[in-house]
Amino acid sequence: MKPPRFQYHVPESLDEALGLLAELGADAKPLAGGQSLVPLLNMRLARPGHLLDLNRVAELDYLTERDGGLALGAMTRQRAVERSALIRDRCPLLAQAIRYVGHLPIRTRGTIGGSVAHADPAAELPGVLAALDGRITLQSRSSTRVLDPADFFLGVLASAATPEELVTEIWLPAVPERTGQVWLEVARRHGDYALVGLGASVTLDGDGTISEARLALIGVGPVPVRARRAEERLRGEWPATSLFREAGRLVSAEIQPETDVHATSEYRRRVAAVLTERALAEATRQITRETVE
Ligand SMILES: Cc1cc2nc3c(=O)[nH]c(=O)nc-3n(C[C@H](O)[C@H](O)[C@H](O)COP(=O)(O)OP(=O)(O)OC[C@H]3O[C@@H](n4cnc5c(N)ncnc54)[C@H](O)[C@@H]3O)c2cc1C
Repeated sequence: MKPPRFQYHVPESLDEALGLLAELGADAKPLAGGQSLVPLLNMRLARPGHLLDLNRVAELDYLTERDGGLALGAMTRQRAVERSALIRDRCPLLAQAIRYVGHLPIRTRGTIGGSVAHADPAAELPGVLAALDGRITLQSRSSTRVLDPADFFLGVLASAATPEELVTEIWLPAVPERTGQVWLEVARRHGDYALVGLGASVTLDGDGTISEARLALIGVGPVPVRARRAEERLRGEWPATSLFREAGRLVSAEIQPETDVHATSEYRRRVAAVLTERALAEATRQITRETVE
C-alpha cells in the first residue's frame, strides 16, 4: 500500500518546527525515524494532511550529562544510545533495554523521541522511563512542560502530548551508588515487541539491606506499570531468594495483563513473576558480586 497524499515540510530548526505545528495543528504529524509512522501511513491507519520531517532539526540530537542525570534529545537515534559509553556507564538499564528494540536497521533510524511519543505499551523506552522516574519534556511554540511518565503515558498509543507539542527531551536521574540494574524480557522472536518486559533497579544500603527497589513492566497493561507493592515489600529487607520469589508473586498479583492473540493473561503473569525473581537476583549480584541464597 502507498500512503495517502500529504504535504511534506522539512523544518531546519526547532523554532521552525514548533511554528509549523502551531499553524497546522492536528492535521500535521511529526516524522522522526519513521519506523512506526511510515507503516501506519502505508496501511492508511494514519492520514495526516502534513508531515513534518524532524530529521534536519540537529539541535534535538544530543546525549549529555545534565542536572545530575542524563539528557537525551528527541532526535537521538536508538543506535547512538546503544553505542554510547556514557549510557553504558551511567544508565545500565537503558543500555540493556535499548538492545531489545526491534532490529539493528530499526534502531539505526528509530529515535528516542519517536519511541516515547508513539507510546506503545510494549516498548522498552517508556518502561525505562517508568522504572527510573525519568522526565519527558514537551515543547510547543508558546510553552514548555516537563512531565513524569505516569502523567505522559495515558493509554495504548496515547500520550499527553497535544498536536502542537513535540517531545523534545527525555531526562534520566543519576544511578545511586551500590545499585544494580537489569532489563529482561520475553518475546516470541528476538526483535519482536515484548510479551512481557521488566526493568529492575536495586540499591543496597551499607549494611547490605535493600534501600530502594524499582520494578517497571511493559506488555502487561496499556501503559508501563510500576509494581509498587512488590517494591514496598523489598525495601528494608535482606536480599534472599525467598524474598525475590515473594516479590515475583506480588508482581504477578498486582498486574492486570490482557489476553490477546500473542499470549494469555495467565501466561504473562507467570512470566512477570519469573522475570522479577531473576532480575532481582541478578541486580543484587551486580552489587555484591555474590549469588544470593
Ligand atoms: C519490525 C519492527 C519491530 C519493532 N520492534 C520494536 C520493539 O521491540 N520495541 C520498541 O520499542 N519499538 C519497536 N519498534 C518501533 C521502533 O522502535 C520505532 O523506532 C519507534 O517506535 C518510533 O520511533 P521513530 O523515531 O521511528 O518514530 P516515527 O515512526 O517517525 O514516529 C512515531 C510516532 O511518534 C510521533 N513522533 C515522532 N517524533 C516525535 C516527537 N519528537 N514529538 C512528538 N511526536 C513525535 C510521530 O508523529 C508518530 O506518531 C519496531 C518497529 C518495527 C518496524
